Amino acid sequence: MDTQGDIIVGSRVWVEDPTTAWIDGDVVSVSGEVAEIQISDEKTLVAKLSKIYPKNMEAPFGGVDDMTKLSYLHEPGVLQNLSTRYELDEIYTYTGDILIAMNPFQRLPHLYDAHTMEQYNGVPFGQLGPHVFAVADASYRAMINEGKSNSVLVSGESGAGKTETTKMLMRYLAYLGGNVPTAGRTVEQKVLESNPVLEAFGNAKTVRNNNSRTGYSFNYSCIPTIFNTLQEIEKYKLGNPESFHYLNQSNCYELVGVNDAHEYLATRRAMDIVGISEKEQDSIFKVVASLLHLGNIEFDKGEDTDSSALKDDTSNFHLRMTAELLMCDPQALEDALCKRMMITPEEVIKRSLDPIGATVSRDGLAKTIYSHLFDWLVTKINKSIGQDPYSNSLIGVLDIYGFESFETNSFEQFCINFTNEKLQQHFNQYVFKMEQEEYVKEEIDWSYIEFVDNQDVLDLIEKKPGGIIALLDEACMFPKSTHETFCQKLYQTFKAHKRFIKPKLSSTNFTIAHFAGEVLYQADQFLDKNKDYVVPEHRALLGASKCSFVAELFPPLPEESTKPSKFSSIASRFKLQLQQLMETLNSTDPHYIRCVKPNTSLKPGIFENVNVMQQLRSGGVLEAIRISCAGYPSRRTFNDFLKRFGVLAPEVLQGKYDERTACTKILEKKGLAGFQIGNSQVFLRAGQLAELDAWRTVLL
Ligand code: ADP
Repeated sequence: MDTQGDIIVGSRVWVEDPTTAWIDGDVVSVSGEVAEIQISDEKTLVAKLSKIYPKNMEAPFGGVDDMTKLSYLHEPGVLQNLSTRYELDEIYTYTGDILIAMNPFQRLPHLYDAHTMEQYNGVPFGQLGPHVFAVADASYRAMINEGKSNSVLVSGESGAGKTETTKMLMRYLAYLGGNVPTAGRTVEQKVLESNPVLEAFGNAKTVRNNNSRTGYSFNYSCIPTIFNTLQEIEKYKLGNPESFHYLNQSNCYELVGVNDAHEYLATRRAMDIVGISEKEQDSIFKVVASLLHLGNIEFDKGEDTDSSALKDDTSNFHLRMTAELLMCDPQALEDALCKRMMITPEEVIKRSLDPIGATVSRDGLAKTIYSHLFDWLVTKINKSIGQDPYSNSLIGVLDIYGFESFETNSFEQFCINFTNEKLQQHFNQYVFKMEQEEYVKEEIDWSYIEFVDNQDVLDLIEKKPGGIIALLDEACMFPKSTHETFCQKLYQTFKAHKRFIKPKLSSTNFTIAHFAGEVLYQADQFLDKNKDYVVPEHRALLGASKCSFVAELFPPLPEESTKPSKFSSIASRFKLQLQQLMETLNSTDPHYIRCVKPNTSLKPGIFENVNVMQQLRSGGVLEAIRISCAGYPSRRTFNDFLKRFGVLAPEVLQGKYDERTACTKILEKKGLAGFQIGNSQVFLRAGQLAELDAWRTVLL
């Protein structure tokens, strides 16, 4: 963003500050590449010109509702604008077509009520203040008028407000759909109604894996909200939630403000609505309850060396409960947990697992059951919702995890960040394309705009052959590979890759320079986690269940896939699904909503600069701004331009020029260069609008 030219003695500027991200002050002197800035009465500091940005002085008191209206589009300006608005409970702001949504962490009166919905109904995008309803309305109109599929992509980190935003989107679409007489309920209504099912189960599935060292980190915090009534507790043999190992890991039995009994009923009702029968519901809850008992089975050393046995009577009780709920044989369950079959050319040997091995086996079984159950629910809901038979076009709403970078990053973060790279590329292309389309429409020259692509990161990850995923799959197929040999291979292969870094002091970690920053990955569980593998003993146990629901979750595998050479890779399947998703998205008109979590204490009224900036960077918002800055970020219609800047050259207004020529003459008189005159608008380079405003202020 080439705005440094505007830094002169006396100008008000932003300068980088480690604690508040940016701090403002006045330039007192400039020499060479540095300037001295007065921060307060006593304090001045010296900073490089490249780290100093001019402050938007003419921005209105309450900020602007679209970032592109700022004269200077840079990080501090964007941040200041969002924070000013947040203070006034204005949580929505546009950046061109992108909606930024700050989580208010409080119910704001009337923000989503029926009256507000009515207001947005059918009003052109941008005419009213920024709102999630405006985005929903725009996608709906585009779908109806142009018959084209639309998609709304909602992104942001955990707690940023994605689920809430998605609900509001769906609610508005349901409201619009309700106005169109179709038989039965709309797709949107059905989706909304099915929400509690996946919310109840999905929370437990989508783990923030801070605890990846334990292998499987379950977060069953939702389960107490499922089982609540005494009758249910009795039926599923459950007691106090605190007594269950899988529950007491999350330390979160009760969510503040969440009424368990109410949520339980909502989940049940939603299950009815999506067509999950009484009997199926009963089986689902039994399966979930069985997982809780399973988690409480503990092992001690057995009689033989390296074998294991149930620790005590309590473990025995939980084993029997698990078997009863899953309707399988208790002895078979114990064997499946404590023993493994070894198949040699001569015979089949049963080998015992030691207590640690048995515990890993137990958690593996729980994970297998849970993920099969979740997949079943998703399939069921998708079938029930189906596609609206009255329309060939759709509005897809995608709610995705944002970029993640923790202290420990494993395979899960790798997959999430890979997704984000893909979506970022889609986003960049979209922003760039929109700019281009506008320029083409206005017939201006745009050939020089540079566009930074993240294709190199994507190649590093997914290129076939030779990308990280391909090398990981290869490692998983060689019985002798370890995470060390896998890492060595990565170091060799990507020695010269700009986006790949080998940490100095480790031989089991690697760093990827993602678009949103560098992430250090711990490779030690990559191989295990990439193997999509159900232990055959576990599959056999569950497949033989007397409960048809459980047995059907584990149908027998086709012959050839049981051979060891047929390795199925989670990463490759993930890559394929992502590919399909991108194809779907590419066939739609996208709309972007970036949710932002303003603070980590999850309280209203607090705006943490450094945090927000990090999210804007990872969400690609700043990249979008950068792309628009590379072109002509400020544009005004001829008429608006003359109204505002006519005073700079009154003689031009008196001359009998057409609007177009008049605008050109004003710009030339002020010695500006690089701007473009389109068919109906003046296109200005970054900073030029501010310069014109400065001239104007001098005259007024
Ligand atoms: P995410 O899905 O991104 O993890 P959620 O949508 O669950 O985040 O939001 C977390 C919490 O923040 C919600 O439970 C809700 O209390 C609050 N919240 C989010 N968006 C809004 C909003 N627009 N208005 C009021 N509260 C909100």
